[in-house]
Amino acid sequence: MNENSCPICHDELSWTGEYHCQSCDENFKKIGFCPDCDAELEKLQACGSASYFCNACNELKSKSKVRFEFQPS
Ligand SMILES: [Zn+2]
Ligand SMILES: [Zn+2]
Repeated sequence: MNENSCPICHDELSWTGEYHCQSCDENFKKIGFCPDCDAELEKLQACGSASYFCNACNELKSKSKVRFEFQPS
């Protein structure tokens, strides 16, 4: 399953430094939201993998539970 699809046309997004939809000719950024309080999460790079921190809950969130949304950048 492709997790990076365009929110408008659902085509696969390509990665060019940002997410890009060739069909819509739009760039998107991927934003994570807290599964518990719905706040926007801060992305932390650690040991080569990304983790997501909620400033409202004051804790790290498991990537598998984070809700991702693509927004036009
Ligand atoms: Zn599109
Ligand atoms: Zn939270």
